[in-house]
Amino acid sequence: MKYVLVTGGVVSGLGKGVTASSIGLLLQACGLRVTSIKIDPYLNTDAGTMSPFEHGEVFVLDDGGEVDLDLGNYERFLDSTLTRDNNLTTGKIYQAVIDKERKGDYLGRTVQVVPHITDAIQEWIERVANVPVDGKEGPPDVCVIELGGTIGDIESMPFIEALGQFSYKVGPGNFCIVHVSLVPVLSVVGEQKTKPTQHSVRGLRSLGLTPNILACRSTKALEDNVKTKLSQFCHVPEENIVTLYDVPNIWHVPLLLRDQKAHEAILKELNLLGKAVEADVTEWTARTKVYDTLQEPVRIAMVGKYTGLTDSYLSVLKALLHASVACHKKLVVDWVAASDLEEITAHEAPDVHKAAWDLLKGADGILVPGGFGDRGVQGKILATKYARENQVPFLGICLGMQLAVVEFARSILGFEDANSTEFEPETSSPCVIFMPEGSTTHMGGTMRLGSRRTHFQVLDCKSAKLYGNAKFVDERHRHRYEVNPDMIQEIENAGLLFVGKDETGRRMEIVELQNHPYFVGVQFHPEFKSRPGKPSALFLGLIAAASGCLEAALQASGKVSKVSTTRVANGTATGKVYQNGSVYGNGNGLHH
Ligand code: GLN
Repeated sequence: MKYVLVTGGVVSGLGKGVTASSIGLLLQACGLRVTSIKIDPYLNTDAGTMSPFEHGEVFVLDDGGEVDLDLGNYERFLDSTLTRDNNLTTGKIYQAVIDKERKGDYLGRTVQVVPHITDAIQEWIERVANVPVDGKEGPPDVCVIELGGTIGDIESMPFIEALGQFSYKVGPGNFCIVHVSLVPVLSVVGEQKTKPTQHSVRGLRSLGLTPNILACRSTKALEDNVKTKLSQFCHVPEENIVTLYDVPNIWHVPLLLRDQKAHEAILKELNLLGKAVEADVTEWTARTKVYDTLQEPVRIAMVGKYTGLTDSYLSVLKALLHASVACHKKLVVDWVAASDLEEITAHEAPDVHKAAWDLLKGADGILVPGGFGDRGVQGKILATKYARENQVPFLGICLGMQLAVVEFARSILGFEDANSTEFEPETSSPCVIFMPEGSTTHMGGTMRLGSRRTHFQVLDCKSAKLYGNAKFVDERHRHRYEVNPDMIQEIENAGLLFVGKDETGRRMEIVELQNHPYFVGVQFHPEFKSRPGKPSALFLGLIAAASGCLEAALQASGKVSKVSTTRVANGTATGKVYQNGSVYGNGNGLHH
């Protein structure tokens, strides 16, 4: 097993996660099997309790792990399936050590950060690195470890110490440190400044870690004399210094690294040059080119609760992007704060209210994402009603699906106080109720989390077709409430069909409205499994419907099993149809 450790210096937010994922992607392109571990030095055991406001979205894995959103980047770039153990936190390590201490496993010894915590960290890394994440048998070749935070942070000290010991243990040729740093340009002199990087490398070395590669963020490529200076002061060979200069989007980062031969430097450090093949990024390059040249817009209104921090809906945005690129449309996301659509805003801030409605009405498609808490619920219901009545393509995810059912029960069935018991426990028409898989009285740990199977009830529906006429699909969940099974019949009789259910038939997974171009609601979160080259089926449906090419997409995804080239969209884009029903431009099927 070989290890690549990615650390960060100078400031946070340099794109360490994207850099680490891109390194993984490049090594994969060289024919190696790659896994990844993200270390978050905070005390929370996992991201489950963290506010998406502050930290960005909580990413959900197949095994139900609620993890840092960087793991989403790894899964998307490497097309891997990670587990909760791939996200290591201070909370998890301390919990494991304290549990052992309580059981008496330390035999009366004093339990300390060094060696007990540091040993536990090393054991964790070694154990998790050997678990395959690509669906194949046997351990991966390389594990990319990303250390969250910035060098010098107090809370990352035990991890640094552990990683220093670990690199010594696995020995030279098996451990490569990539330090991501910043080379600012001072506008007064226009000069690329190396001092911050020098300082952060010195900090790293003083903690016992010597960087092999420097990846410097800067607006432009580093000048030769700047590289020479960095090399001298940081003791890193010039050919091991790469610039991560500003690029139009993150898909360029692996290409940027490839162009500067970062993979060769890493392979050399890891003695893998003999095993690796020439990096093949043809497909990735082609898709990036398509992304860069998209012209025709598709406008999607995102009706969410928080719209300040776009990272709170990161995977939804990525899934929309993957689908748009596959349909050869330029994605434009219009953020609509749900509460701005509400009547109360019309009184308090009429301009804001009007602006929100104008955005919603100007959209080609409407998406209501998942959420918790009652702020903006009424606004989301209004947006859903608008989509339903005006034949605007609509996708409701989790809470978005639950509210679509509430809206339907209110408007079509005439149950005026229909609601989810999450928001109105005493409602006389509880169409969404608390339905835990375990105890009904205990709130803690009752979230339905991770991968669950949805069985299609009818094959002749849009979702089943988009999923390539699949009989069932496995998607990720994160919710407590669900559509009340006792109200299904009535709702279905009025035209909102539950076309996907769990194996018991009691849990509603997919709704579709009849006589509407595209009105789909899902209890699960399809965004978590969308990949650049394999867009999520239902997002593809939304974008295709919003761009007026749903029929072509349905036909294309319906023809599964044989991989065929099919024309979609406006007749120019071609994509391949794969088992999961996604029509996608994988670079070979696209027109260039
Ligand atoms: N709050 C809702 C529930 O718990 C929806 C959750 C979500 O959208 N992820 O069921």
